[in-house]
Amino acid sequence: MAVSIGLQMILPWPFGLMAALAIFIVFPLFLRNRALKRMGGGFGGDPGGGGGFFGQSQGVKYICLTCNNRYKGGACPRCGSKMKRADF
Ligand SMILES: [Zn+2]
Repeated sequence: MAVSIGLQMILPWPFGLMAALAIFIVFPLFLRNRALKRMGGGFGGDPGGGGGFFGQSQGVKYICLTCNNRYKGGACPRCGSKMKRADF
């Protein structure tokens, strides 16, 4: 890595080595953190979500506890109740 060689030329011996080590340790961590953040953002910003608790709301159907209607989505279209259980 050109940066670490440059640092060792500029800084006195022990500090140059420490700086080089710090770069070699911090740089991969920084890259990994950025990748994790990107993955987290992808999950958080998923527009198809809406289910929230189950993560994948697509394909999950619910059965209304009030009128036993089977439906997809937030509330029962027949009676408007939000009391429901998931039907897998
Ligand atoms: Zn209902």
